[in-house]
Amino acid sequence: MAQETLLIKHADLLCTMEARPDAPYGEEITDGALFARGGVIEAVGKTADLPQTADRVIDMRGHVVIPGMVNTHHHMFQNLTRAVPAAQNAPLFGWLQTLYPIWCNIGPDHIYWSGALAMAELAMTGCTTSSDHLYLYPNGARLEDSFAAAEDIGLRFHGTRGSMSIGESKGGLPPDRLTEAEPAILADCQRLIETHHDANRYAMRRVALAPCSPFSVSMDLMRETAQMARSYGVGMHTHLAENVEDIDYSLATFGMRPGEYIEAVGWTGHDVWHAHCVQLNEGEINLFARTGTGIAHCPCSNMRWPVALRPSANVWMRGLKWGLGGWLGL
Ligand SMILES: [Zn+2]
Repeated sequence: MAQETLLIKHADLLCTMEARPDAPYGEEITDGALFARGGVIEAVGKTADLPQTADRVIDMRGHVVIPGMVNTHHHMFQNLTRAVPAAQNAPLFGWLQTLYPIWCNIGPDHIYWSGALAMAELAMTGCTTSSDHLYLYPNGARLEDSFAAAEDIGLRFHGTRGSMSIGESKGGLPPDRLTEAEPAILADCQRLIETHHDANRYAMRRVALAPCSPFSVSMDLMRETAQMARSYGVGMHTHLAENVEDIDYSLATFGMRPGEYIEAVGWTGHDVWHAHCVQLNEGEINLFARTGTGIAHCPCSNMRWPVALRPSANVWMRGLKWGLGGWLGL
C-alpha cells in the first residue's frame, strides 16, 4: 500500500464512535481533524493538535466526519433487475421464481458492471467496506468479476463464494441451469481462498464462503463448506429464517427449525454471520447470543413484502436489536 499521507481538517464535528466508559458512543470532536498514512488512520483530534500538512489535504468545514459504514449483506448482481414489474409485491419465493429465468442470462460483464454500480452507490453514501453474496455463476461468471469492480471503485471488499446445488429437478427452487455440482463448488471455493483471500489487517480483499440458503444446497455441502472455511480461517455466510415460508420449508424438509438446522451443520460461532433471521424464536436468539453468531438483518428487504406477510412489530424490534449487534460484531 502506498504511504501517501492524508489530512482531513476543520470538520464541524468528527465522531470516533469508539466506546469508552465516559463516552459510550465515542468522542465528538469540534473543529476535528484526521491524519492517515497509507490508508491507515494514525491520529484524530482537534485540527490545531494534528500535523498541519500532508500529501493530500481536505478542508471539511460544514461537514461531519464519521467512520466508514460497513455493509454486511448485498446481492450486487440484482441491481440489474431491481425494477422488474412482475416481481413487485411478490413474497420472497415468488420474487425469486420471477427473476431466476432472467438471471440465467447473466455473465462476467453483468457481474462486473452491477458490482461497480453497487459499490459506487455504496461509496457515495458513506460505506467503505462491503460484502457481496454472489451465489450464481452462469455463463462463465466468476467472483473475480466482483473483485475487479471493487478494485476499480476502491472499496474494501469481502467477496463471498455463494452456491446453489439443488435445482427444480431435485425439489429445489432455482432452475437447474443456475445450480452447480457440489464438488465443483468446493473446488472453486478452495481456489478462490488460495488465490485471493488476504487475512492481514487492513486487507482490501477477503473471501468468505456462502451457500445461498438451506433450501438451495444439501446438508452435506453446508457441513463441508464449514469445514473448509474453518481450515482456512475465512468467514461463513448464508440466508436464514428470512420469513415464514423459510420456517415452513425447514420444518417440512429437515424436521428442524432453522436454528436447529444450522447448529446441526456447524454454522454457529464468531466466524459466521447469517442474513435476515427475522423469524428466529427466543431459543434461537439465545443460541446466537451464546455462540457469538452474527446477523445481517436487512430490514429494507422485508419491508417490501405485502402487508399480510410482514412480521409483527415485536419481532421487528427484537430483530433490529440483534441485527445491530451482529453488524457491530462483524
Ligand atoms: Zn440476500
